[in-house]
Amino acid sequence: MQVYADNAATTKISQQALQAMMPCFETYYGNPSSLHTVGQEAKEILEEARAKVAKCLGCEPREIFFTSGGSEADNQAIRSAAFYGARKGKKHIISTAFEHHAVLHTLNALEKEGFEITLLDVKNNHNITAQHVRDAIRTDTCLVTCMYANNEIGSVLPISEIGAVCKEAGVPFHTDAVQAVGHLNIQVKEQNIDMLSLSGHKFHGPKGVGALYVRRGLPLVNIIEGGAQERGKRGGTENLPGIVGMAAALEDACANLDAHTAKVTALREKLITGLSAIPHCALNGDRENRLPGNVSFCFEGIEGESLLLLLDAQGICASSGSACTSGSLDPSHVLLAIGRVHDVAHGSLRLSLSHENTEEEVDHILTVVPQVVELLRNMSPVWRDLQNGIREYIL
Ligand SMILES: *Cc1c(COP(=O)(O)O)cnc(C)c1O
Repeated sequence: MQVYADNAATTKISQQALQAMMPCFETYYGNPSSLHTVGQEAKEILEEARAKVAKCLGCEPREIFFTSGGSEADNQAIRSAAFYGARKGKKHIISTAFEHHAVLHTLNALEKEGFEITLLDVKNNHNITAQHVRDAIRTDTCLVTCMYANNEIGSVLPISEIGAVCKEAGVPFHTDAVQAVGHLNIQVKEQNIDMLSLSGHKFHGPKGVGALYVRRGLPLVNIIEGGAQERGKRGGTENLPGIVGMAAALEDACANLDAHTAKVTALREKLITGLSAIPHCALNGDRENRLPGNVSFCFEGIEGESLLLLLDAQGICASSGSACTSGSLDPSHVLLAIGRVHDVAHGSLRLSLSHENTEEEVDHILTVVPQVVELLRNMSPVWRDLQNGIREYIL
């Protein structure tokens, strides 16, 4: 049995998205900037896709800018707020300690350029609250950027409340909603979101395409200089197949949101309940405010990498945290940020589900994971010390 439970890293493209893309290769192959008929037909398809994305988010089509993905959208949003903030002498940015690296590394770069960054802490597995944000806002704050939902531990932040706080303070508010779009009901206007990043491949669209929503009137800087595409804010011939596929995937995700959420949440709960029975483990992330498909645990006395390899051998594709850090031996910055000590953070497992997963697959996971954890613990000198009382259990 092959079980794909790594949907937070990427999702399988949907049939709707794939079918929508094919005519872009065969029929609508024109350049949307060309004045002739073939070009103008491509332009029409492009604008239809923009309207679909806007409709799903509750904004106007002209507030959607297509990008090469979530990372680019994050970079552009943050760079824009920083540039226009600095012009007014405002060089303070508020974010959280468990953001995606697309946000954190952009903030690191800005810090070197003279910005002051406040990262709200999430120690003891606490979630961010609007009050944390309110307390951190200063007169020189030019941006609040808080992710909508965390990609490793699944915590969903109180985005509407944070949006209200930012609006009241007159501070632009950006959210990296890459894990949330297509999975949670998002209405940017009602939630007072000024900028929002999304990425096609996280909701069964193609890879290499995303979008940035920007409230009308907020200025943007270019990350990619070039032609006048995307109203002069993002040079480069549009990735029409990608954009059209993403729009179709999003439309499908929004139309089936309630049904998918109900199904995935039930699978998640079964997994969390089942895995909680393993001794000396802890659930990571917010127990209530949680992405429908996210299951994240730390198991004491094991190495996450060994666990993943043994699970893979049993047909289960999972992750130890973020796909971006799995090349390195450092534990995830997210798990360290929520207060897991190094040894515990190393024993992490993330299972991220989609509506395509089945109850049989969850049963398979619930059979295999406890066996593999036990096998690894029996081989572990650390576990032996814990069992003999030479070391103290943390979990
Ligand atoms: C995947 C992800 C990104 C990056 O999106 P890409 O389209 O892969 O560049 C950014 N933020 C979060 C929270 C993500 O999960």
